[in-house]
This record gives sequence, C-alpha cells and structure tokens, in this order.
Amino acid sequence: MATDSARPALLSLDEVLQRLVALAREHAITDTESVNTFDALGRVLAQAVVSSLDVPPADNTSMDGYAMLAADVPVAGTVLPVSQRIPAGVVGQPLAVGTAARIFTGAQVPPGADAVVMQEQCEALPGEGLGQVRVQVVPQAGQWVRRRGEDVMQGAQVLAIGQRLSPQALGLAATVGAARLHVCRKPRVAVFSTGDELVMPGEPLKPGAIYNSNRFTLRGLLQAAGCEVTDLGIVPDQLEATRAALRQAAQGHDLILTSGGVSVGEEDHIKPAVQAEGWLQACQVAMKPGKPLVYGAVRRPATEGGQAVFMGLPGNPVSSFVTFLLAVAPVLRAMQGCPDAMPAAVQVRADFDWPKPDKRREFLRARLNAQGGVDLFSNQSSGVLTSAVWADGLIDNPSSQVIKRGDTVRLLLLSSLIGA
Ligand code: AMP
Ligand code: MG
Repeated sequence: MATDSARPALLSLDEVLQRLVALAREHAITDTESVNTFDALGRVLAQAVVSSLDVPPADNTSMDGYAMLAADVPVAGTVLPVSQRIPAGVVGQPLAVGTAARIFTGAQVPPGADAVVMQEQCEALPGEGLGQVRVQVVPQAGQWVRRRGEDVMQGAQVLAIGQRLSPQALGLAATVGAARLHVCRKPRVAVFSTGDELVMPGEPLKPGAIYNSNRFTLRGLLQAAGCEVTDLGIVPDQLEATRAALRQAAQGHDLILTSGGVSVGEEDHIKPAVQAEGWLQACQVAMKPGKPLVYGAVRRPATEGGQAVFMGLPGNPVSSFVTFLLAVAPVLRAMQGCPDAMPAAVQVRADFDWPKPDKRREFLRARLNAQGGVDLFSNQSSGVLTSAVWADGLIDNPSSQVIKRGDTVRLLLLSSLIGA
C-alpha cells in the first residue's frame, strides 16, 4: 500500500474509522474455539446460539399460592378443596375439577388449571387431607402464569454471531441449555510505550522524568476488551530499538499498539520504524484530543507469515485513552467479526457554557449530574488524566459548535465504550 508520512492527510474520524475497519476486516481473526459457557465472558460468538427448547419449558407460576380453573371461582370468597401440593421441581397431577392445588413459585401449573391466586389473597382452612382454601378474589384466566415459551421459543436464535458475551448473555445461553459456546479466538495484542522520559511507578522519578501512565491505561483497556495482552514495556526513543520492538511485537500477534512518538519531532521514531518494517499511514484526525494517529502493518517473520496490524496512538494520556475508545476498540471489534456500530450516544442537557469550541470535532470529558444534565471537567487539556477519571462520558461536540447552557449535547458513556 502506498504511504506518505511526510504530509499526513487531515481526515475526519469517520473516514479514518472506515479505513481502519476495512484494514481490520482484511486481518480478521478466523480461528475459532469452543469454550465452556462458564468461561466465555467477554468473548465474541463465532456461531449463533439457537434454542432447542421453549423457555420456560412449561407454564409455571410466578407466585406462591393456589392454582385453579378461574371459572371455578365466580365470586370472591369461594371455598375449594386443596387436592395436591406442587413445589418447584415437581410435576403435579391434572387438577381435579372444582379443586385447587397448593403451588410454589417456579412449579409447573397442572393441566386443568389456568390461573394462580397468590397466597396473600387466599385463606387456608382446615379440612380433610390438604384442607381447603378460601379464595378472596375473582381470578382472571392466565393470572400469575408464566407461559411456556414466553421468553424463548424453540428454534429461535437468542444470540447472534459477532455478539460480545455479557454476563446476562451467558445467562441466556445457559437458559437454553448451551454448555459450550463457539467463539472467536481472543485478539492477541502486543503493546509498548515510547519515551525516554518514562519511568515506572516504584522507580525513583529522576529529573525530567514522568511516570508511565499509558502502559497501565492501555493494558487495562485491552484487557477489558477481551484481548490477550503482551506488554513489551518501554522502548527507548531510538530508531533501531523501535524497529526491534516492532519485529518482536509482530510475532504471534494480531495487533501492535504503541503510545507516543507519532508527532513530527525528531525524537519520534515510530513512523520511520513502522515504514521500515512494513507500511504506514500517518493521519491528522480532525478530532480533539487525539489528532496524530498512525496505522499500518508490520511484517511477521517469514516462518510465520502475514503481518500484524499496527496502530500508533499519541502519547498524551487523555489522547491515548480517547483514541483507544474511538479508534482501537472498533478495530478489535471488526477483527472479531462484531457488527460495525459505535455504542449509542445519549442526548443530555448541557449545564455549562462552551463558548470557544475547536475547529476539530471534540470529545469533552463530562459527567452526568443529579439534575439530569451534564457538567464539564474544568480542564480539558489532553495531558490531564484526572478528567478521564472524573468523567463518565465524552461529549461528542461537532466541529466549531458553541455550546450554551441548556443546549442538548450527545454524550458517549464511558461504560458503553470501555469493554465494548
Ligand atoms: P509524544 O506523543 O511522545 O510526543 O508524547 C506526548 C506527551 O505525552 C509528552 O508530554 C509525553 O511525555 C507524554 N507521554 C508519552 N507517553 C506517555 C506515557 N506512556 N505515559 C504518560 N505520558 C506519556
Ligand atoms: Mg515521546
């Protein structure tokens, strides 16, 4: 592919995303595996889950009480003999005409009964055998009965290919009896940080140094996205060292992710290194934060073949965080065959003024307040990581859009972006 890193193109985020998703699809992970449903959290389905049964499998009661034929209780206060007792897990007998069955939540409603009256609306009376019950209300046919198949019909697809498995999706798979699930292999991602100023927490902070935060943020984001992460640490700002790190990162990985070193400074070696080890496209994305972004691919050793997709994120901690959520996460989804959709934004009221918007589309760190509006973090600088922890969402503000208190803005919730 042709590349030109000297004059990066200025592209909209949507244009960049289209290209990235196309690249990810070319490098889609085709390996699949069967995993125990217990262990499938966060995985992406490679095969749909279709129900072989109705759920619930039979009509059952959603209340503790008495099952009866509604027509047997024409007036409140009717007394019926209790002919059987049906706890959950036990299948009762067909209901004798003119009687009621004592029944407990989850138990199948016996043939011949069409309604349940909750025990709070019944009075147990002494009598022979299981005694009698006075029904204090006139039941409607069908009340408190969960119908066979009302949740899932036999043959229905309950989970689609490409669906990422949430805890509740695992529960649904289990509901239809799926003990194992066919999923895409986890994306294997190698990640490293560049920057001679970086030291690790636990090390002394020598003059001129800062602690490496991106290493933690990016690794955490990758783990939350269900990836197998190889952390290659910090790579010095040297061309040869960067090339060597890229070669190592390409081996056995689907994606190489780096932070820093993508500006035009002469200490920024990522671009020439990627170009030498594969191909590279440098972009200026019309977004703030996160303007410089490079992507491409790095050749794997001949013994392995192919290439690993490469994405180089800016070094500023907030830029790195935001570009991961908006550009890397879609790539990971596309590689695993997930549908190409951004998580939905919510429309909320701005409880602030933003009189001087940027020309670029902005992603402002913001937080929902108890009044149903959204507040803005006071410092929107791309180096201020406090904003990303304080925020629960990013306001997606169109280019040059002034925001006035009371305006409606689009908020992308971090909870729908992280781990998506
Ligand atoms: P760069 O993209 O390498 O020019 O870095 C841009 C800014 O982000 C500089 O202030 C760097 O010191 C800072 N930075 C780069 N990498 C990291 C990192 N891993 N953790 C924290 N800050 C970083
Ligand atoms: Mg740097």
